[in-house]
Amino acid sequence: MSQPAASPALPAGLPVFPGSLSASGQPATLGVMGGGQLGRMFVHAAQRLGYFTAVLDPDPQSPAGQVSHHHVQTAYGDQQGLSQLAALCAAITTEFENVPADALQTLGLSRPVAPGAAAVAIAQDRILEKARLSACAALSGVHCAPYAVIESAAQLQAVAPDLLPGILKTARMGYDGKGQVRVGNAAELAAAWAELKGVPCVLEKRMPLKSECSVIVARGWSGEVVSFAPQRNVHVDGILAVTHAYEGNVPAALAARAQAATESIASQIRYVGVLCVEFFVVDDGSAQGGLIVNEIAPRPHNSGHYTVDACDVSQFDLQVHAMAGLSLPRPRQHSPAIMLNLLGEVWFDAQGQARTPDWQAVLALPGTRLHLYGKLEARAGRKMGHINITGSALAGPAGVLATARRVADILGLPGLDALS
Ligand code: ATP
Ligand code: MG
Repeated sequence: MSQPAASPALPAGLPVFPGSLSASGQPATLGVMGGGQLGRMFVHAAQRLGYFTAVLDPDPQSPAGQVSHHHVQTAYGDQQGLSQLAALCAAITTEFENVPADALQTLGLSRPVAPGAAAVAIAQDRILEKARLSACAALSGVHCAPYAVIESAAQLQAVAPDLLPGILKTARMGYDGKGQVRVGNAAELAAAWAELKGVPCVLEKRMPLKSECSVIVARGWSGEVVSFAPQRNVHVDGILAVTHAYEGNVPAALAARAQAATESIASQIRYVGVLCVEFFVVDDGSAQGGLIVNEIAPRPHNSGHYTVDACDVSQFDLQVHAMAGLSLPRPRQHSPAIMLNLLGEVWFDAQGQARTPDWQAVLALPGTRLHLYGKLEARAGRKMGHINITGSALAGPAGVLATARRVADILGLPGLDALS
């Protein structure tokens, strides 16, 4: 069977077409570093196209490892594990932003890796991330919140008073609000930095948030870019609780700016793969508010989970397409949607007794789709699954909002009333 000619920008070995066989006669295998829920949904998307999959994750029960053809159970930096993954796979991606950039670099010596080590390294270090996002602002048109780097006592002393009140964030290993301390004045800042053991940090001015949104973009090896419209996100205790994905969720002019800025950032950092850019909508005295870029995630994102049920191609489909060198179709959202995250709390009643959530009542509601990640133990704050609620495009968001409220009431979920 003849195959379309490869674009000259594609690395050797790409495209990996669906249905193609490797030299050993097995279906071509796509690999992912990390075995969490994002990896699991990547595996589902890759397998739908007939690929075999390989996951590298040390946890024998990892959500993605459970459903993958191959599971390499080693630490992320283990040279043997990396060799094994490279030997199995035609191309490799990541679902976990704290995979050592060195490991991606090693894999990149023998296999196409998207996103590459350099792009992931930006997201792993807030200091580098802020610098790159600031440098992108000339073309993206969207700036970061005012900030200062704190790596030394001298830098701590030199912090400009107008950065306070602020949020002190560790440069590395932060997620779901971890490694962050809110500080009101210079004394609290000094105490917080000491509490964080003097590790490199960024102090960000606390912004008057009207709302938060994010944009998911996919960029291919040849530089083609497609993106989803912005989602509006509601966080509770620093963890995403609710994503609103329908027309009017964000003022139209801001939505257009956020989407254009995201595509610009992806191109400027020469990103390949799926990238999420998080934004703040801040109160700047104008009716609709101003836009600030917060951070990037070098992978599909929790705020894009609705795309699986509400769009003709999901963020995970685009991740597969991008890494394998396939065409990137422009995604089309066919239904308004709300995503509700399910944290471990849902598995406990008000007295702290373990319970099975009332799935019967939830699943009886039209338009609800339950996604559970196969995690064996529910713990407070642990992401166990999510529910996508979709409705008719003609009825608009009112229908999905009403259903989402009923789901939230049944399960006792937070976040829906706060900003909607
Ligand atoms: P995640 O990886 O889960 O997105 P994170 O731990 O990397 O989160 P941030 O996105 O930096 O952290 O911050 C978490 C949340 O804290 C934001 O979504 C926002 O609600 C709030 N926040 C962070 N920075 C600021 C700021 N400068 N001003 C006001 N609120 C902020
Ligand atoms: Mg964030």
